[in-house]
Amino acid sequence: MADVILKDLVKIYGRDIAVRGIDLTIPDGAFVVLVGPSGCGKSTTLRMIAGLESISHGELRIGGRVVNDLDPQDRGVAMVFQSYALYPHMTVRENLAFSLKLAKVPEAEASERIDRAVTALELGPYLERRPSELSGGQRQRVAMGRAIVRKPEVFLFDEPLSNLDAKLRNQMRVEIKRLQHRLKVTTIYVTHDQVEAMTLADVIVVMKDGVIAQSGSPLEVFERPADRFVASFIGTPQMNFVDGVLSDATTFEGGGLTIPLDPTRFNSLTAGRHVTLGLRPEDIVPEGHGLRPTGTATLQATVTLSEMLGNETLLFAETAAMQFVARMQQPRPVADGDRLTFHVNAERCHLFDIDTGKSLAV
Ligand code: ADP
Ligand code: MG
Repeated sequence: MADVILKDLVKIYGRDIAVRGIDLTIPDGAFVVLVGPSGCGKSTTLRMIAGLESISHGELRIGGRVVNDLDPQDRGVAMVFQSYALYPHMTVRENLAFSLKLAKVPEAEASERIDRAVTALELGPYLERRPSELSGGQRQRVAMGRAIVRKPEVFLFDEPLSNLDAKLRNQMRVEIKRLQHRLKVTTIYVTHDQVEAMTLADVIVVMKDGVIAQSGSPLEVFERPADRFVASFIGTPQMNFVDGVLSDATTFEGGGLTIPLDPTRFNSLTAGRHVTLGLRPEDIVPEGHGLRPTGTATLQATVTLSEMLGNETLLFAETAAMQFVARMQQPRPVADGDRLTFHVNAERCHLFDIDTGKSLAV
């Protein structure tokens, strides 16, 4: 069991700075997910924690020890990769046993650890197979088993599910979460997939350009995004944005919308200020879709495309002044070109500074 503390962690490659000073405290037993677009420095951060990349600047502590200069095998971490990195010429059993053999773990203890991992991951039927004789999901389980048998203090995952098809990915996601709940091992998990991040994380860390844009519980990050980047990255489909101006201290005007603002929810609402309004698709509710609208503002818009997803329908719509996506939770047939009235849940709107993108929420 160990906490992990990153203090101003920096990675410089030649003239490029991949990670620009990450501060993060990960409590013992937490499940933390680093999420962000490709190239934002997630893998580099994880690899510095693993000891696979040197640390250019800053301090890394695992379980109270500074481990900057320790070799990977001395840090008490085990890493699972997207590519599985199994030994192709070894059976599943040999793959699981290999690192224990290297670490000179006594035979009896090793076989007990292997048995436990095999049971936890339901690998029993495949022990004598080689990786080439396994499905992607089974290989991924072996890769996790290999991490578990080492009894690490910290699990590190780098996009472990990216090579799996959607159904299997969802299934493995649940398995990883269950396993972590059972083992209670501190886990740092990297993904570019915000749904994976939202569902797995106790703490979600949104990264952009080598820095942390925001960290918090999944709900905090979703409900109170710190800036426009986080607001657009978390949530599917992404938040709608409309530029406009505060016509007075409690009214947004823009994109043909007039939205009353609750002055207790925002800072610095001054008449004339230019802002960006953010509305999640579920907060633009088409009239007559079966749910009672809570909206305090309405707009008329023409549907340009509807996407029926079964449990919900996404409506892509436009007015003369704006385009947006709305979510219809109790679907009814809608044709392209239909003109509908939408109710805006103004009490759930977001506001951002038009230049810096910073949230104005209190
Ligand atoms: P992510 O995992 O978030 O997609 P990475 O951590 O892999 O991003 O990369 C962050 C940045 O560092 C990228 O701009 C990438 O090109 C750069 N980078 C990663 N590895 C190396 C390397 N070995 N040498 C030089 N640049 C690298
Ligand atoms: Mg990566």
